Amino acid sequence: MPALRPDTSVKFLKGIGERRAEAFARLGVRTAQDLLWHIPFRYLDASSVTPMAQARVGEDVACVGTVIAKRLMPTRSGLRVFTAVLRDASGLLECAWPGQGFLDRSIQVGQTLLVAGPVRFYHGRQLNPREFIVLAEPDGDDDGPPAGRVLPVYRATEGLSHKAIRGLVDRHLEAMIAFSTEPLPETVPADAGLPPLPVALRAVHRPATLEEAEAGRRRLAFDELLDLQLMLARARLMAKQGRRGVPFTLHHTYTRALAKALPWPLTADQKRALKEITADMTAADRMHRLLMGDVGTGKTVVALFAMLLALENDHQAALMAPTELLAEQHLATLTQLLAPLELRPELLVGRFTPAEKAARRKKLASGEVRLVIGTHALIEDTVAFRRLGLVVIDEQHRFGVEQRARLTAKGEAPDVLLLSATPIPRSLALTRFGDLDVSTLRAKPPGRGSIKTGVRTAPQREKALAFVHQQCAAGRQAYVVLPVIDESERADLRAATTAAEKLQALWPDLTVGLVHGRLKPAERDERMREFRAGQIDVLVATTVIEVGIDVPNATVMLIEHPERFGLAQLHQLRGRIGRGAGESYCILLAGESVPPRLKAFAATNDGFRIAELDLAERKMGDLIGQRQAGDFELRLARLPDDTDLLQAARTAAQEILARDPLLAQTRHQALRARALQRYPRAVELFRTG
Ligand code: ADP
Ligand code: MG
Repeated sequence: MPALRPDTSVKFLKGIGERRAEAFARLGVRTAQDLLWHIPFRYLDASSVTPMAQARVGEDVACVGTVIAKRLMPTRSGLRVFTAVLRDASGLLECAWPGQGFLDRSIQVGQTLLVAGPVRFYHGRQLNPREFIVLAEPDGDDDGPPAGRVLPVYRATEGLSHKAIRGLVDRHLEAMIAFSTEPLPETVPADAGLPPLPVALRAVHRPATLEEAEAGRRRLAFDELLDLQLMLARARLMAKQGRRGVPFTLHHTYTRALAKALPWPLTADQKRALKEITADMTAADRMHRLLMGDVGTGKTVVALFAMLLALENDHQAALMAPTELLAEQHLATLTQLLAPLELRPELLVGRFTPAEKAARRKKLASGEVRLVIGTHALIEDTVAFRRLGLVVIDEQHRFGVEQRARLTAKGEAPDVLLLSATPIPRSLALTRFGDLDVSTLRAKPPGRGSIKTGVRTAPQREKALAFVHQQCAAGRQAYVVLPVIDESERADLRAATTAAEKLQALWPDLTVGLVHGRLKPAERDERMREFRAGQIDVLVATTVIEVGIDVPNATVMLIEHPERFGLAQLHQLRGRIGRGAGESYCILLAGESVPPRLKAFAATNDGFRIAELDLAERKMGDLIGQRQAGDFELRLARLPDDTDLLQAARTAAQEILARDPLLAQTRHQALRARALQRYPRAVELFRTG
């Protein structure tokens, strides 16, 4: 057999073939290189698995056993509980997944499962798995709890068990490691106290001890962070370099007029953010700043002051939003705020006819339009500005790096202000926004209604529904949110449709609407418009409700199966209410009992606090093989624990780029190739010649 190459398709590897290659593709594994980098997301060793007989009520345990029986039980609330009885060498243990009847499809008698979660008392000991993994299928020979050795656990998929993957990796490991040469200048890993790459790869796939696996993971995590930091550092360099920014002057013409016209004073946070932005904009360097704040903290008006500063200096400003609905909403808000100043913002969105678009493009090019609000339509090639001085991007994470760059490229050297409604902890901000300055809005403006959050259990369901009905009958509007694991899953969507139909039948006096991810964007927008216009009283929705959508009359949100959401996601959802003056209510309809995490969530409205809870929670949930970090997926790095690696990677990236800004030197070729493979979008950043 010829030597294995990194780009050899996995289907040519012994033991794989077409069928398994298809399954691998679902895991993102297409080449030998991908397979080598399909890193176990956790390890089992004898010491971390509790024999079932020893699992005690009140403890949090991990057990491994074979499914000997399973059952689907309806409850009074209509939610189904899935239960399975597992057996290991020491005894039996019942596991229960309240409200997750769908698991009946994936968990089968005879499978070997790893389950982890708290043990409680419910007619005996019962484990409520926070996570589970199918270790072996019924027909395979039983893996059992690993005795005295460390067992790597891989992300698996239908038709490709974790065990099969383990066997295949094992079989080809040495051949794959043979093509993995050290991509870093030798001193770099050594300085960070990390092993060479081949050693690390062997350690993560075939560790003798957990410590060895962890040392390997840290090296790979460092590489992952280094690639990211290289890209971010290069982006920052390019943003600052070359043409300097426009040093705007505070003329106070428009800005003071707006301050006078505002019906309320700015909050202290808004003032501070504005001061930081003004300092950036009046300086010679270009501004590259992120304004981060929970929904409702008043980012828009801060951005508006910045835009007026550009306008005062005879420049244009553009505000780009991810959807037409949000763009229209901004248009309405800004039109109203700017009326006293006799300034009229213009809109440019995709649904306009070619003639409408052409007319607006003409006015932008001539400078007649000074402030434009739009969607992706703004970055079309045909759009040109007379003198674009400031670019504001709302919900910045919804745009790719190059989309943002395309808008910026329409000006000479415009300042850039990014807005984000997702507060994140400091350690994460470093990875995600390593190339940005950050301003934060933490406190909400006073006089806004507060949101009361309550957690109710299944027996209180009817009462909760009656409350929603009573509020709507009194003229308010409500969201009913259902979890959908995968927006393309028919079963989940059917559940949403059924729920909407049931509510409509239950409440003939109200109009119930439905939005979900399968709807066309235009249809979804239309439904949201109807809701905003009050034509729909109750909107049943999957998680697709727009983040920034502002329906002040929507004061009630009922969330079904809140256990299935992450805390940060719940908080994002909750942000859709509480936008009017009155009191708003968020009701989490949990299963039989109230999980502590939901209690903690209900107790605070502070997005930064919740971001911290969320991060801690995701760190615990080892099941998450993929860690999201903004536009960048971090699979191996664990934050905040790996903050030391992050700092080391940042320093290394800066040093490498200081000597070789385009990674053009021969000794950086492997590094360059890998960074670009991981971040294909960064090609522009490292273009040579
Ligand atoms: P964000 O975009 O951060 O979610 P918005 O900019 O939409 O928040 O502001 C939310 C609401 O708060 C808007 O209705 C806005 O008019 C109002 N608002 C903003 N700043 C203040 C303030 N300082 N005092 C009172 N209300 C404010
Ligand atoms: Mg907003």
